[in-house]
Amino acid sequence: MAEKAFNPFEMAQKQFDAVAEKLGLDQGTRDFLRTPAREFHFNIPVRMDDGRVKVFKGFRVQHSDARGPAKGGIRFHPHETIDTVRALATWMTWKTAVVDIPLGGGKGGVICDPRELSDREQEQICRGWVRQVSRNVGPLQDVPAPDVMTHGQHMLWMMDEYEILNGGRFPGMITGKPVGMGGSLGRTEATGYGVIYTVREAMKELGLDIKGATAAIQGAGNVAQYSLDLFTKYGGKVIAISCWDNTDKVPYTYRCKDGIAFDKLMASIDKFGTIDPAKAKAYGWEQLDGGAWIEQDVTVLIPAAQENMINGENVSKIRPSVKLIAEGANGPTTPEADAVIQQKGIFMIPDFLCNAGGVTCSYFEQVQCNMNYFWEKEEVLTKLDQKMTNGFKAVSALAREKKVYMRDAAYMISIKRVAEASHLRGWV
Ligand code: GLU
Repeated sequence: MAEKAFNPFEMAQKQFDAVAEKLGLDQGTRDFLRTPAREFHFNIPVRMDDGRVKVFKGFRVQHSDARGPAKGGIRFHPHETIDTVRALATWMTWKTAVVDIPLGGGKGGVICDPRELSDREQEQICRGWVRQVSRNVGPLQDVPAPDVMTHGQHMLWMMDEYEILNGGRFPGMITGKPVGMGGSLGRTEATGYGVIYTVREAMKELGLDIKGATAAIQGAGNVAQYSLDLFTKYGGKVIAISCWDNTDKVPYTYRCKDGIAFDKLMASIDKFGTIDPAKAKAYGWEQLDGGAWIEQDVTVLIPAAQENMINGENVSKIRPSVKLIAEGANGPTTPEADAVIQQKGIFMIPDFLCNAGGVTCSYFEQVQCNMNYFWEKEEVLTKLDQKMTNGFKAVSALAREKKVYMRDAAYMISIKRVAEASHLRGWV
């Protein structure tokens, strides 16, 4: 039977409710943590290149700032919805808590498709977004970052607008900035590398060798690219990668049994994660259906695109060879599919642990901005590895001790930390 229309916020709440019950959390704390602390909805009027004014819808949701300023990315997405932003803001709270960094959770979005906008139009959206929330974001309140279809240049326009409005230099108001303009070395690699640090640790625990292991990745954006890079550097092979597409273009999976090389991937991809079919052909990559990434005979599956990608419809296509799923994306697995995965005994590295490398490096970026002293890349990546490895080990130890699923163990650690901070502040 087909699942009802997917609502990521309902899914985030369902996951929260189940763990709140396991933890025996009091009703007041549950009510407080299952919805965002505050949210902003606004219009962003932009004079387009053709002289017309177009009004874009923008959002910022702050789920929690109990453990520190809210933190999380801004997505530019033609199908953005407030419930998606709410879910993503909620997951950010659990994400910063599970790796134990002193930040909360937030998320923002604009309903737009940057692929169809000029640079000037995108700049106006960025500046307009900041003008609408300039009193509610900032280094001590809520710190945005890049996410789906946003990148360093967008962050810099936003920072510049904030600095104009506030009359000073506030590089800690946003992260994911270009290196040399307050950005951190290693931020580009951070999320994907973080995914693979947790995969490496999980494979050690499962007694699997990463050298010679195979993986299939869904998505070809930043997270997918650097997951592929590090998995390959550790001696593994990514034999399939799919390029996601959310509008009219057709998504594909590309397969190469010898492993897709990082340099070839980077040479064939545009900045929105779309692979050029002509280049893929020239490299000899087989072109398969968009959904084929999930039905490959590999050890590791890495969904690194969007929400709702492993669901009731395709979960049965996962091959028996798959021992491990590493959720590079936020919310890629629906609860229905999750139950099947759990029952099959596939080891799961849940999203808000697996992809916490990005926000962890954002935290390092803020620290460096505050000191006005920037670290070497090696130092950033070593600290990142430590945080991710510690986070992973704490979750897997709890999962073993309490005999619970990895996702539940991660939730238990995060919810406990955020509930405790809210109690200590006297909020609930
Ligand atoms: N957008 C990324 C995430 O979902 C990074 C957020 C950040 O760096 O604040 O985790």
